[in-house]
Amino acid sequence: MKKHNFSAGPCILPEEVLKQASEAIVNFNNDDLSLIEISHRSAPFVEVIEKGRRLALEHLNLLNKGYKALFLQGGASTQFLMTAYNFLSKKAAYLNTGTWSTKAIKEARLFGDLIEVASSKDKNFTYIPKEYTVPNDVDFFHCTSNNTIYGTQMKTFPETNVPLICDMSSDIFSRQLDFSKFDLIYAGAQKNMGPAGTTLVVIKEDLLERICREVPSMLSYKVHVERDSMFNTPSVFAVYVSMLTLDWLKGLGGVSFIEDVNKKKAKLLYDEIDRNPLFKGIVSKEDRSTMNATFTIVNEDLQSRFDSMWKEANISGINGHRSVGGYRASMYNALPLYSVQALVDVMKELERKA
Ligand SMILES: *Cc1c(COP(=O)(O)O)cnc(C)c1O
Repeated sequence: MKKHNFSAGPCILPEEVLKQASEAIVNFNNDDLSLIEISHRSAPFVEVIEKGRRLALEHLNLLNKGYKALFLQGGASTQFLMTAYNFLSKKAAYLNTGTWSTKAIKEARLFGDLIEVASSKDKNFTYIPKEYTVPNDVDFFHCTSNNTIYGTQMKTFPETNVPLICDMSSDIFSRQLDFSKFDLIYAGAQKNMGPAGTTLVVIKEDLLERICREVPSMLSYKVHVERDSMFNTPSVFAVYVSMLTLDWLKGLGGVSFIEDVNKKKAKLLYDEIDRNPLFKGIVSKEDRSTMNATFTIVNEDLQSRFDSMWKEANISGINGHRSVGGYRASMYNALPLYSVQALVDVMKELERKA
């Protein structure tokens, strides 16, 4: 039986997507060739990537609204530098909500001045700063919508008149937002969209006019937009599986449907964390992520017992990140509600036996 997979990333993917993907490895489109041994410029693959690009915009409600979707490589980590390389001419503003924001800030410093408008480092990133203003004279504002490691999530975004750039790696397609507020969104596929190996970039075409310096082709948004995400060989397998996952999501009813499911899953787990005296949440309640729930066990003597119980229950991937400790249950789109119920049942059982 498939394990209840709470892995923080690479993440759980839908069974039917995995099945289709494995078939395509052997025989794609009944053409007696593998998906990964045909030209990326062949009609069947162009159809795949175009469908993926369209579905991404559709799910974000950005189709025909002046945006382009790209499947790039190098992970979200390359976007840390690419955003700054293209758009940081003098000064940019960053909100620091964790490890990934900190890394984005480090890369951007290579290209210009940085203003950290606020940081939650003082409390090991267990909350989202709210009292800050974004200056009007910066090239852009950058934030991280969901902090995968700590389990915090931005529920609102600042009103600004500067371009808004957001790392949505770990909560893209998980909830509805007014995505037209954003000028550039990026997300490594492996958190909520597909396998590792491709990064989704959604960019407002107007933003391309703000490119501020000569940029090498592979790092230029303009080049990738002009070449329809085919400047070089895309990671065909990762793009294909991402497209299948986006299509699976559409079949379910899209982001509005999955948002409801995600809320149910998060409520089920957080309610138990709050109710069960053996457990304690790590981050401030109002900032809790619907994707990654972090918690500790109050009495550490019970830890090894709990660990063997959840392993026994066929649960996988809830060990906390080394910089936070405790436990982290990641509840990405493809994780079924019954998996969260299985974890909650183990938590209740521990309470009964302790
Ligand atoms: C995992 C993660 C990253 C890093 O992604 P890579 O694809 O490994 O470069 C960046 N930002 C967030 C929010 C993440 O969760």
